[in-house]
Amino acid sequence: MKILVCVRIGLDGEISPFDACAYELALSQEGAEVSLLSMGAEKVKNALSELTRLGGKKAYLLCDNAFAGSDTLATAYALSKAVEIIKPDLIFCGRQTLIGDTGQTPVMLAQKSGYDLVTNVMGITEISDRSLTCRTREEGEKTAQLPALITVERINVLRLPSIRSSLGEVKTLSADDIFANKDKCGLTGSPTRVIDTKENTSGRRRCKYIGFDQLEDVINAALQKTKKSISGTVGTTKLKKVLCVTNAPVEYAKTVTDNIVFCKKNDVGSVISAINSEDPDAVLFGSDSISKRISALVASKLDLGLCADCTALETDGKTLYMIRPALSGSVIAKIKSNTKPAMATVRTTQNSGDIIVAVGYGAKDRIEQVEAFAKRIGAELAASRKAVDNGILPYEYHVGLTGKRVSPAVYVAVGISGAVHHIVGMDRSSTVIAINPDKDAPIFDYADYGISEEFKTI
Ligand SMILES: Cc1cc2nc3c(=O)[nH]c(=O)nc-3n(C[C@H](O)[C@H](O)[C@H](O)COP(=O)(O)OP(=O)(O)OC[C@H]3O[C@@H](n4cnc5c(N)ncnc54)[C@H](O)[C@@H]3O)c2cc1C
Repeated sequence: MKILVCVRIGLDGEISPFDACAYELALSQEGAEVSLLSMGAEKVKNALSELTRLGGKKAYLLCDNAFAGSDTLATAYALSKAVEIIKPDLIFCGRQTLIGDTGQTPVMLAQKSGYDLVTNVMGITEISDRSLTCRTREEGEKTAQLPALITVERINVLRLPSIRSSLGEVKTLSADDIFANKDKCGLTGSPTRVIDTKENTSGRRRCKYIGFDQLEDVINAALQKTKKSISGTVGTTKLKKVLCVTNAPVEYAKTVTDNIVFCKKNDVGSVISAINSEDPDAVLFGSDSISKRISALVASKLDLGLCADCTALETDGKTLYMIRPALSGSVIAKIKSNTKPAMATVRTTQNSGDIIVAVGYGAKDRIEQVEAFAKRIGAELAASRKAVDNGILPYEYHVGLTGKRVSPAVYVAVGISGAVHHIVGMDRSSTVIAINPDKDAPIFDYADYGISEEFKTI
């Protein structure tokens, strides 16, 4: 069984965290012949070479000026040309990279390579020469026929090299080596363009400090007044027609058009026939994992630009400008697509309840009290990554860049410092209340109300 693991190596030479999990999962499959594939600059070669020490027999580096400036579609195209040559039975990819944070490339790679696809894999339950069955994060058990591609969640820790390990071969491949059409590679082959970036100050709030005795009154008042709104600017010049896949993105669509049509079924065939019959200027999807997968499959099939996870939309009547956080949420990018219709997934609520009580590492000694408090006020629990990494709550509770994104009416952050990686997962909550004894903790910059004390039950 040949398993190819696609990895993105950062400028610091580090493998992307989700890709590390995909590599570990591949290495733990008994009898598998594991190899690595990466696209990047020449200097990535050393990092790839080091990775082969862990058990990968061979690594391939796609390295050519023709690949520079690739968006997800152009990256997936180049990788698929390498896959045609390597011919693996299985491809393992991380769920997303942290730099791009779209999760589109693996889905598009599966589509372009004609591989069966399972996304958000938490573990493999059965594997044979013909098929594999996986546990997924949101869709239960799923079986794929080989050849297949899976995207892996943050489920394990990449092993360390043994002292006796040896380096495997790293083979550099140019665009010509993989018979790639250079018009489909790099910037030329990339339909999406970043036209502006600025510091991300969204989610910043003016914090009003309160005492524990006011906490429940503030929560109740916030629940009363909550009406979730989309932060897009409703301009006077609008797009002629926008296609919404399901009802999820409709509030965003209203900010850029007066003419909304719907595709009720969220599957590739239905969306493509709706695009063909409606000829919309833009197609919008929600941001649940199924919408993310279907949008990337449709974009790849039609060779259209796709912008993931937009937090606002703008238009001048002709072009759709898609606004989204980038670089781990530290900047906001304005993106347009050179292909029509423009395609985007927009950040929508993830089935979160009205109130979420999120537990951080600072609440580690008070978890029972926090849980009892959440239960009493009818709240769901969530957690920061550090809380999850330290076993305070399981992975499913993890909110943030590498976890899930939530937007409840009220988000109560208990013992959370407010790292940008956490903020991007909860900054669309209507009211944020932070409880943290450290007055300087960044979380207070993103909170409407703050209690600067240790958590206690009233
Ligand atoms: C690539 C990458 C991706 C990441 N992705 C995510 C992600 O998706 N989600 C995420 O959450 N993090 C993520 N992180 C980690 C993130 O940068 C922070 O390290 C993490 O969010 C910190 O968790 P924390 O706030 O619970 O813990 P800490 O930073 O340790 O903060 C604990 C806080 O609790 C306070 N505290 C102490 N005692 C009490 C008490 N008794 N009562 C109340 N408060 C108290 C402290 O003052 C402190 O501010 C990522 C990091 C990297 C590098």
